[in-house]
Amino acid sequence: MREAMIEAGGLVRTFGEDRAVDGVDLQVAAGEVHAIVGLNGAGKTTLMRMLLGMLRPTAGTARLDGAEVATAGPGVWRRVGCMIEAQFVYPELTVRENLRGAALLHGLPRDGIGPEVDRVIGEFLLGRWEHKRARTLSLGNKQRLGLAAALLHRPSILILDEPSNALDPAGVVFVRDLLRDAAADGAAVLVSSHHLDQLARVADRITVLHRGVIVGDLDPGGTDLEERFFSEVYEADRVRAARATGAA
Ligand code: ATP
Repeated sequence: MREAMIEAGGLVRTFGEDRAVDGVDLQVAAGEVHAIVGLNGAGKTTLMRMLLGMLRPTAGTARLDGAEVATAGPGVWRRVGCMIEAQFVYPELTVRENLRGAALLHGLPRDGIGPEVDRVIGEFLLGRWEHKRARTLSLGNKQRLGLAAALLHRPSILILDEPSNALDPAGVVFVRDLLRDAAADGAAVLVSSHHLDQLARVADRITVLHRGVIVGDLDPGGTDLEERFFSEVYEADRVRAARATGAA
């Protein structure tokens, strides 16, 4: 098996009584698109935030390119691109200023920033809005900006939480191609989504997360993904209920 670029080992995160992530093991190799699906509140964002060092795990380890996230140095972070709830968009900065900021943060050489910003503004169809403040953008365009900022420096590790949930149909296809292209260039991609049909077209692997636990995988090439998703979720609930009553 190829070396894991993104790795969760027994990751747990509790919020009081709530076990938001409850012992997740997961590996994403270079060149692979690994999707996580789950109902609202399943723990997808919490898992991704721990993998990105935004949230401290209650237990377990998170590694990026073999480095412990808690102590990873700038050499690792420069190769990471992420979008969690479009939070790398600064509302008072313009689209162009946001992208320049993202380029600087990721250590792009100053003389290369202008052309790279021009490139992503073109690719992400942000030209009409490049001088507008991010807070005035439509939801979908904020998401385009967040994605452009995440991908501008051509990261080799990509972690994206619902990257196309606000996009129009053309944007959804565009993101699908982006993820496939990034993986073809050797990136390890971890992506969450609620759109099973979209994931089936882009993911090498689809993992079902339910109540903080991985309850199974879905074959991206298979049929009736929705039906199989619900049967895994209901089976996990049945086993859980049976255990709770001591009947399992
Ligand atoms: P969605 O599909 O709705 O985005 P999700 O799978 O991303 O859901 P999470 O956002 O990871 O789910 O939430 C998992 C659980 O953790 C939920 O019960 C949520 O209420 C809880 N949770 C997440 N962040 C916090 C927090 N900062 N404080 C308390 N509880 C939290």
